[in-house]
Amino acid sequence: MSQLRNFDPAVLCAVAPGGHCEFGQPRAFHDRSGRVGEVSVRRCRHCGHGITHPPLADVAFLYADRASQDFQPTTAGLAHRIKRLVFRLDARRLLRQVGIKPRRTLDFGCGSGLFTRCLGDLQPGGEVVGSDFHEQPPADLAGRLYVPNAELDAQQGSYDLVLAMHVIEHDDDPAALVRRIVALGRTGSSFVFEVPNVDCAWAGVFGEAWDAWYVPFHRIHFSRTSFRAVIERSGLVIEREIDVCLPSLGRTLANLLGTRNTLPLLLVGIALHPIQWLGERLTQKPSALRIIARKR
Ligand SMILES: [Zn+2]
Repeated sequence: MSQLRNFDPAVLCAVAPGGHCEFGQPRAFHDRSGRVGEVSVRRCRHCGHGITHPPLADVAFLYADRASQDFQPTTAGLAHRIKRLVFRLDARRLLRQVGIKPRRTLDFGCGSGLFTRCLGDLQPGGEVVGSDFHEQPPADLAGRLYVPNAELDAQQGSYDLVLAMHVIEHDDDPAALVRRIVALGRTGSSFVFEVPNVDCAWAGVFGEAWDAWYVPFHRIHFSRTSFRAVIERSGLVIEREIDVCLPSLGRTLANLLGTRNTLPLLLVGIALHPIQWLGERLTQKPSALRIIARKR
């Protein structure tokens, strides 16, 4: 076993007696990026928090060409219309859950920009800004507001609502990333964080093919406990914790079959969604965890 694997980073633990996570044996994964090589995940024996090895100080190279599935590779026709409909429904639900009418909203780590666009369509009077690693906005945000991450620090304290949807699991140091995101909101502003749940019921059924593992793009694998802890430690006040059923069976089947998530698999995923939802509901082990919080 290499020295790297024996190295335990000092991750603060909400449960472990010593105050730091104690990581168990590594579980090997297939490198979905094809750029890192040997990859594995280790989980804390106490809080369930998972970390991907090897550590990557800067992950931008993984997304340089926007080819990862986080950017929802440009789809056309029916697949795009379906995604747009699903995103629009989720954007509406999210605004209801937050319960404010924000003047300025930031979608930090906006990926394909489709969700950001849907949010903007629902808030005609407000400004909705997307941000990500890249200099140029993604295709779905053409003609809309976009700021590269590198220029965001100049906008500290200027947003009423900041979203980080499936973002903080992409960084080796989520605590530092959350602090950076929190700084962008003004006093009293609202925040929405969402991450995959490492303890999802379906992860046990599908093993490595379960789409949310997504190693090495996902650097961190949050449990309910470790997700709550990282948000609380940032100083935000948690207002609501919401279980989310994120449509994942289509992509999981694509992983099992070793193909891309094509339109037929997307449709199979939609057809199976009620089963996915029911399984998560009955076990209380959802595929994703959402926290709504406020800045004091
Ligand atoms: Zn722990």
